Amino acid sequence: MRTDVLGVGFDDVTMDEALRRAEALMAAPGADYVVTPNPEIVMICREDPAVRAAVEGASMVLPDGIGVIYGAKILGRPLREKVPGADFAEKLMERMAKKGLGVYLLGAKPGVAELAGEKLAAKYPGLRIAGTHDGYFQEDGPVVDAINATKPALLLVCLGAPKQEKWMAKNRDRLAVPLMAGLGGSLDVYAGVVQRAPAAWQRLNLEWLYRLLKQPSRLGRMMKLPEFLLCVIGQRISGK
Ligand code: UDP
Repeated sequence: MRTDVLGVGFDDVTMDEALRRAEALMAAPGADYVVTPNPEIVMICREDPAVRAAVEGASMVLPDGIGVIYGAKILGRPLREKVPGADFAEKLMERMAKKGLGVYLLGAKPGVAELAGEKLAAKYPGLRIAGTHDGYFQEDGPVVDAINATKPALLLVCLGAPKQEKWMAKNRDRLAVPLMAGLGGSLDVYAGVVQRAPAAWQRLNLEWLYRLLKQPSRLGRMMKLPEFLLCVIGQRISGK
């Protein structure tokens, strides 16, 4: 059973459990997908039923950031740990490299996915970069065909939220890929175009502040975080 945080059900898994489940999904038939919602996406799910359905249709819903962890704790149903999407996918690719499996990188500005692929292949020898495509295309059909032709074991869908969640839900039936993961700006991180917060900031759960300082234009989007916390506190007080 999933842990409800303002109407979005999260899987209470540790990083290691999430990786083991992902490997099992990759080995099983059917196109499964993983989503990694943060408070901003939880708030979007409350307003947009199509996004909520896409998130609910995922085979794993991982708590991406500290906001969701705090929210769950305030609501009295704590989740064990945050499982950041970019870390999860990187650790999964590390395991895939040992088996010689392939990953297709979809998303980000032209050139970024290729660069991410080069860096990942150098870091994890044995990992097959099945293919890459930027995230600024008009029609899904040719992109789906290109992905299917390369037979990857994993597809990283990095189109930003909630576009990537809707894309995976819409296209899963025609994708011959056992597992997909919606990962926002992760390709920018793997390519080195965007830097993750230093480890000390991550340990202090201040990654969101680092991102805000580096990209002040995110302030508008981040205003969803106080709104999320107010809703959580309101729900806790009303006991609903
Ligand atoms: N993006 C894309 N296609 C689009 C819109 C966005 O490929 O139509 C990419 C964008 O270039 C960036 C990522 O999606 O690489 C979104 O990054 P952001 O940091 O905003 O995502 P978050 O992790 O916060 O969801």
